[in-house]
Amino acid sequence: MRLSRYFLPVLKETPAEAQIVSHRLMLRAGMIRQASAGIYSWLPLGFKVLSRIERIVHEEQQRAGHIPMLMPTIQSADLWRESGRYDDYGEEMLRITDRHKRDMLYGPTNEELITDIFRSYVGSYKALPLTLYHIQWKFRDEVRPRFGVMRGREFLMKDGYNFDLTKEAALHAYNRHLVSYLRTYERMGLQAIPMRADGGPIGGDYTHEFLVLAETGESEVFYDSAITDLKFGDRAIDYDDIAECRGVLEEFTSRYARTDETHDEAKFAEIPEERRRSARGIEVGQIFYFGTKYSEPMGATVTDETGAQVAVHMGSHGIGVSRLAGAIIEASHDEKGIIWPEGVTPFGAGVVNLRQGDAATDAACDDIYTKLKAAGVDPLYDDREERAGSKFATMDLIGLPWRVTIGPRGLKSGQVELTRRKTGETVELSPDDAVARLA
Ligand code: ATP
Ligand code: MG
Ligand code: MG
Ligand code: MG
Repeated sequence: MRLSRYFLPVLKETPAEAQIVSHRLMLRAGMIRQASAGIYSWLPLGFKVLSRIERIVHEEQQRAGHIPMLMPTIQSADLWRESGRYDDYGEEMLRITDRHKRDMLYGPTNEELITDIFRSYVGSYKALPLTLYHIQWKFRDEVRPRFGVMRGREFLMKDGYNFDLTKEAALHAYNRHLVSYLRTYERMGLQAIPMRADGGPIGGDYTHEFLVLAETGESEVFYDSAITDLKFGDRAIDYDDIAECRGVLEEFTSRYARTDETHDEAKFAEIPEERRRSARGIEVGQIFYFGTKYSEPMGATVTDETGAQVAVHMGSHGIGVSRLAGAIIEASHDEKGIIWPEGVTPFGAGVVNLRQGDAATDAACDDIYTKLKAAGVDPLYDDREERAGSKFATMDLIGLPWRVTIGPRGLKSGQVELTRRKTGETVELSPDDAVARLA
């Protein structure tokens, strides 16, 4: 993409309404624009990041054997009356009446809708296990929408639902989700720690939240610092292997790590003092096993091997897709701007032309830009008539992991500069070597 033809409305001033760094940087980098309280448009740069996050979520869910689909944002109140949650959900639910005076709502989550789909088609244990998921916009009329996309009212969530014949099988689904989430967050350059949490309005007592440690996080967390040494890394995993998935859960939940709702001072005190930590965290996901909480009232039953009708065991598993864009910035930035991890960066590299209009420099930039595109790097070429300082500031702000800087002086000796955003480390090399390094 040529920056002269792109739509990147970078702000010079720091917006006064933004209280935390990710919100400020998303506004300044032209990623989002507030449409109304807690509701945002995703401008091109923000949309690219959001799409990359979504893609990683899709890939890891499908790797775990979970099946993508898409349910609507607007739901009928009737299903929520069946589960009993229409009244329970309270003011967070945006209720709508259509022209025929039917009660509708903008879905805050999808347990009812998916259970209705399941019961309409599945009648036998032979169709199990089954996990369906989608990535869809949700609406929750949060009392205090704030921090930009971190606590929006409209936000994008991946929510998945498992259907299993027995509790044991459903717990395997739970463990599978835990493993897939560890992989998902690590691919985004994040450490998200599974912590024992509270069921909340969705219910259930088997649940973990995934938290990214950050001072601006809204959750209070307590943990054994030894847990931060754990990495899933690129180890192989067989998602059908019950013992293997359980082993990962045991490993990642073997240390004390809890949110304030489940915090236990006595247990916490058993950890050696130098490893006891209390901190803030951002909830980027949560997994639940809730048994037959919805299948029983809604009649989602199957016949088992003996021909008896049994309610299926379910769980639901969410990832805060749009919140993650903010959480990644909270975890990765400096005073100059965002530092995107490679996995989610909107462009693979920036190309900065130091002397726009100088024929030789323009030609060299065009050449490297074409080669980077051909190599699949997806470069952003700053070809504007701007001072070098302002081009650098824009590149630093939008945080692409690599910058190739090209000017007449270097070109005289056949060199360009390659700079790593994270460290500022710069090397001089030939244009072809720069392309080879980035490809
Ligand atoms: P929170 O405690 O932050 O209100 P939640 O526990 O109510 O979140 P869940 O029902 O567990 O949220 O939804 C799954 C995921 O969706 C959360 O882990 C979070 O990452 C994301 N999420 C929830 N509410 C919002 C919101 N208002 N804005 C952006 N993301 C959200
Ligand atoms: Mg909430
Ligand atoms: Mg929560
Ligand atoms: Mg939650």
